Amino acid sequence: MTSHAPVFKNYINGEWVPAQSGQLVENRNPADNTDLIGLFAASGEADVKAAVDAAAQAFKKWRLVPAPQRGEILYRAGQILKERKEQYAAAMTREMGKVLKEARGDVQEAIDIAFLMAGEGRRLFGQTTPSELPNKFAMSMRCPVGVCGFITPWNFPMAIPAWKSMAALICGNTIVIKPATDTPHSTLHFAEALRDAGLPPGVFNVVTGSGSRVGTPLINDARVKVISFTGSTDVGRRINEACASTFKHVHLEMGGKNPIIVMDDANIDLAVDGAIWGAFGTTGQRCTASSRLIVHKKAAAEFTRKLAERASELKVGNGLIESNEMGPAINEAQMKTVLDYIEIGKSEGATLLTGGERLTGPGHKNGWFIAPAVFADGHRNMRIAREEIFGAVTLVIPVDSLEEAIDVANDSEYGLSSAIFTQDINRAFVAMRDLEAGIFYVNLPTIGAETHLPFGGWKQTGNGHREAGLAALDVFSEWKSVYVDYSGRIQKAQIDIPQD
Ligand code: NDP
Repeated sequence: MTSHAPVFKNYINGEWVPAQSGQLVENRNPADNTDLIGLFAASGEADVKAAVDAAAQAFKKWRLVPAPQRGEILYRAGQILKERKEQYAAAMTREMGKVLKEARGDVQEAIDIAFLMAGEGRRLFGQTTPSELPNKFAMSMRCPVGVCGFITPWNFPMAIPAWKSMAALICGNTIVIKPATDTPHSTLHFAEALRDAGLPPGVFNVVTGSGSRVGTPLINDARVKVISFTGSTDVGRRINEACASTFKHVHLEMGGKNPIIVMDDANIDLAVDGAIWGAFGTTGQRCTASSRLIVHKKAAAEFTRKLAERASELKVGNGLIESNEMGPAINEAQMKTVLDYIEIGKSEGATLLTGGERLTGPGHKNGWFIAPAVFADGHRNMRIAREEIFGAVTLVIPVDSLEEAIDVANDSEYGLSSAIFTQDINRAFVAMRDLEAGIFYVNLPTIGAETHLPFGGWKQTGNGHREAGLAALDVFSEWKSVYVDYSGRIQKAQIDIPQD
């Protein structure tokens, strides 16, 4: 280990503190693995306990801070993120690899959700409704749940922590977050922005370290009342099972295998533009990546030729160089997984038209770069059509009709995002009605969600909850129904029927 590398600590109770074991873990730039970003706390159970202690203590006061005042702190955090957007985006590109333009978008998502939830501080609406009895008042109100535990992935290292945190904070909860081991720096930057905005100590705590050593004790702590997780379906399933016996609120955002349908009447150039952005944005490492392109046979030849041409022209390299259009895989293991899937695709009979090889030339030598891959002649039963690859690989599956396209699209265990390219409004509405997914786009690819709409998936992508939008408030609040009787007697609902 390099002794002069910067050392980063946990953020607990408003202080930067080392892991109690003193252990550290390296964080390296995926575009250049000789670039050591720093050494981060490799925390364990004792650090999680300290963070939950702080969050539980802070909850006692934070829950009583009027929501509009909580909103003002979030608003200030949004402004601070705006001021530091360039700095935080560059640091994110260095640790995560996505190109600078996209890293700016990641910070922008944090800004957007901060302003959305800040405004919610003056709403957080409940319902008032007539009582069935005279001289009786009825309403419902949102209450905070308590300490929330977040476990987050590396692909949106500021946006995802921010989506969860801003919704939780405005509702009056406190937080302990475990960011992905590959991207702790962006989450620490987020903590810094919240601290500088005036968030009281203990309300937001970050404990860095591995899933098993930090995630597991967080899930098992009885004082943690909500677990919100974004990541793979396998880990999500394990978390769901672990939380079942204590009935914690569990919110899961997991994998995707998102289809774009391209009809024979589509504007093909527009569809190709959409597929390039949807499949290769963030190096395909998005839960919403367009990894299945279900194309009408009449359009398939032209679409596939143009797509492969465009993919082969994409500039792949270090995301800090503005002209590059696609960065590396997040780490060596992920790169190997993607290369394995390329071999699986070939052996299954799909035709690799372009890409799929590791890039090792100038500018690529020390990074985890793969040339963007386009497969043609796909079939719904292939593993590359069914399993989430999480890399720069997409597959064209030819079909004969809209009905067949929808059937193929829905033949997946996932249901996050979906899209159709068509100029026929009737076809667009049929697809909107019938595609089994939490998000649907017309003449756009499967990526590009906005923070004020609910985000989340059907089937094995999620467990029925939503992130972002006002739907997120339901994850982070308990409803309390309130009845106030001012009749001066005990009126019995359903039994005392008011007479004329
Ligand atoms: P993982 O599920 O491996 O990791 C996600 C988080 O869970 C990380 O912080 C990880 O820690 C932690 N973790 C891993 N194992 C455990 C465990 N046993 N107990 C508790 N925590 C654990 O996913 P990736 O980070 O590799 O992200 C890629 C996956 O996430 C893809 O499948 C993708 O589709 C999905 N994803 C879904 C999104 C959605 O909104 N639906 C958004 C983004 C990603 P550590 O980093 O230390 O391993």
